[in-house]
Amino acid sequence: MALVELNHVTKRYGALTVLDDVSLSVQKGEIIAVIGRSGSGKSTMLRCINGLERIQGGDITVDGVRVNDPATNLRNLRQQVGIVFQSFNLFPHLSVAGNITLAPRVVKGKDPGMAREVALDVLRRVGLEDKIDAFPDELSGGQQQRVAIARSLAMDPQVMLFDEVTSALDPELTGEVIKVLEAMANKGMTMILVTHEIGFARRFGSRVVFMHQGRIWEEGAAAATLASPRTPELETFLNAVL
Ligand code: ADP
Ligand code: MG
Repeated sequence: MALVELNHVTKRYGALTVLDDVSLSVQKGEIIAVIGRSGSGKSTMLRCINGLERIQGGDITVDGVRVNDPATNLRNLRQQVGIVFQSFNLFPHLSVAGNITLAPRVVKGKDPGMAREVALDVLRRVGLEDKIDAFPDELSGGQQQRVAIARSLAMDPQVMLFDEVTSALDPELTGEVIKVLEAMANKGMTMILVTHEIGFARRFGSRVVFMHQGRIWEEGAAAATLASPRTPELETFLNAVL
């Protein structure tokens, strides 16, 4: 069974259809790179998977749990599905440790000592264990984003969603975040990434999904899809970003 499954999903804002009959099946360990023009529905798709948006048609399941079932406990779901946004959203008044241990303590009921152990472990994975007692404003943008990723990992999610996590960074800082993503990919984490980093998509994506006008316009093995687009829309898009 797929870990994440979208079946004929429709999402509307009023009269505007933002996701139009979107179906996607993601197996454990897959890395899906989602590409497409601004406004094509990429962020909305991630937000729907995480239960941050209601859908008007179709079904979404994560590990067999129906996201759009009113009886589903979204708090439990969100422990399984980590999401990291373009803006880092760290709490400025909390240290790195405070940011990372908040959810494990409040949601999972971990005691402070154990939560700090978890924080150290996830910080090691993003190469920032020496920053555990720093505050967000003492960190570079790239470091803040790595802490935001570590904070998600602290909940031990089954799948991670990334929405243009390098877009707000200066070019010299994107590399360190990409490295963290690559390490996660190599460890077998299931990931769905909205990204403009076509090179990363080519090297690490198991699949590329190209969204256009709220639909999955084209989808396939990463290297082949990027090298030889089948639709003029994808070709035009790639010419514009490469
Ligand atoms: P992308 O991430 O591909 O740039 P989005 O998923 O953010 O695209 O947006 C898809 C479409 O949905 C756009 O036309 C956008 O204006 C619209 N949209 C997104 N969020 C909202 C909202 N909260 N209310 C109304 N329209 C929205
Ligand atoms: Mg977006």
